[in-house]
Amino acid sequence: MTFEEIPLRIPNLTIVEKKAKKFLEEFQKATSAKEQAKVIRKFDRYYFNIQTDLTVISIRYTLNTQDPEYQEAQAKADELIPEIESILNIPFAKAMLSSPYYEELKKIFGEHFMNIYRAKVESFDDRIVEDLQEENRLLTQYNRVVSAAKIPFRGEIYNLSQLAKFTEDLDRETRKEASKAYWKFFEEHNEELGKIYDDLVHVRTKMAHKLGYKNFVELGYLRLGRTDYGAEEVKKYRDQIYHDVVPVTKKLFRQQAKRLEIKNPKYYDYNLTFKDGNPTPIGNRDTLVLKAQKMYDEMSAETGPFFRFMCKHHLLDLDARAGKSGGGYMTYLSRYEFPFVFANFNGTQGDVEVLTHEIGHSYQGYCARKIFPQVLQSPTYEACEIHSMSMEFFAWPWMKDFFGDQEKKFLFAHLSNAVTFLPYGVAVDEFQHFVYENPDVTHQERLAKWREIEKKYLPHKEYRKGSFLDLGGFWMKQRHIFESPFYYIDYTLAQVCALQFWARIQKKDEKAFEDYKHICRIGGTLPFRKIVKEAGLKVPFESGCLKDTVQLVREWFENADDSQF
Ligand code: ZN
Repeated sequence: MTFEEIPLRIPNLTIVEKKAKKFLEEFQKATSAKEQAKVIRKFDRYYFNIQTDLTVISIRYTLNTQDPEYQEAQAKADELIPEIESILNIPFAKAMLSSPYYEELKKIFGEHFMNIYRAKVESFDDRIVEDLQEENRLLTQYNRVVSAAKIPFRGEIYNLSQLAKFTEDLDRETRKEASKAYWKFFEEHNEELGKIYDDLVHVRTKMAHKLGYKNFVELGYLRLGRTDYGAEEVKKYRDQIYHDVVPVTKKLFRQQAKRLEIKNPKYYDYNLTFKDGNPTPIGNRDTLVLKAQKMYDEMSAETGPFFRFMCKHHLLDLDARAGKSGGGYMTYLSRYEFPFVFANFNGTQGDVEVLTHEIGHSYQGYCARKIFPQVLQSPTYEACEIHSMSMEFFAWPWMKDFFGDQEKKFLFAHLSNAVTFLPYGVAVDEFQHFVYENPDVTHQERLAKWREIEKKYLPHKEYRKGSFLDLGGFWMKQRHIFESPFYYIDYTLAQVCALQFWARIQKKDEKAFEDYKHICRIGGTLPFRKIVKEAGLKVPFESGCLKDTVQLVREWFENADDSQF
């Protein structure tokens, strides 16, 4: 079967309701833990089949947001998602958690399994179904606004992903003009997007209050399934980034400006890492995919057949097209045991990063496809990003194939981006804590707060006084802030883990890739901290973790001669 052959199925709520009743009855009639476990497995399979159908709708819609059939299906799915939670998942979870055989079930499926369901129950209630639907409607509205971007630039029309290429152009004037065109879009939609965000913040806060939380922060963490850390650990972690990483990144940005021979670098200059241009991959999409196949064949006995599987079943949609949603993602279709990768290739180094990053995610999905119950196949997001970001580093030995004599430049840029990303990532997180702890501030106040946080973590950024960015508009391009509150920090937590893998690769630690494959195979059977331990890495929250992790990176940059670029 190929992806195109997968039918578009919209779940029928009446049937789901009947099924849900049946599962519940069977579960409650069962007279032993073993019998209940059997029902749990059946329920799990059914639930993930439905989830798959909803995911297929979402993929089809993001592939072509302008298609009325998919628009309609997505609108229907937006309504169905919370209803299905309410009818099917939550009542069953509640029954499991209050089962007379609870302790035995915990022995069979593990404590983590129970904690996952507890987080689901604690973050949901029938009284918030309408609010969740409202939240989904707002997100669809947001997505429509940004995907419909048609930005004129030098006689052509581009969407946001396509235009991004010009913001890293060699020519300063092009960078400036393209950045201006890019930000003009957000400035023009400032009020509209600001209103959508304000509505999102309020509907989320309303849900938190209904569920008995002080504000949305705790609920946001629970929605992400975080069962082994909270906002306090994250705050301490952000402080570590500020103290141990910001000095390193400040130096890297200074060095970058020196390489570019720009005395007064502006915000649009930092998209260009090297004076004669960022490294660009050699060849078009087909060539890059062939190179990726060779890389995965050579990497290990497991990765080669996996990548062939992805190609054979058409599970990569890589080209940028009009109407296609922006960005890139990997998602998993458990009914078919298919990972799916979505990207917007634009001829930059980012294309290669998709072939390593998103493929890292899908490799994990593929490795864990036989784990049952399926709720344990995939871990929480910060752990998922370890699979993808570490794969980017395990791919280093093959970057010569992708970049030719620009290989060294790519490695330099890649590592540099990995580190400079950390302060940005925590800035996004700090901003969101402010937003949800102070839900009633105005859009203007949010903008101002962003600018304040930006100055703290990204002091190199300079904007024209009084411009949209100077007033704090930058966060509006970050879709995670709208779509998935508190998610963004996960990329940085994972990056800190991936950098530890990177350090082990530098030290020629043979066990590094074995540990990597191990955490791909165990999927979501453990919570974040335990997965990190299983990988033989330090947990980012532990004090001193950042200092140690950054040490080798600092040395690597001291030894890298960037005057040759
Ligand atoms: Zn990712």
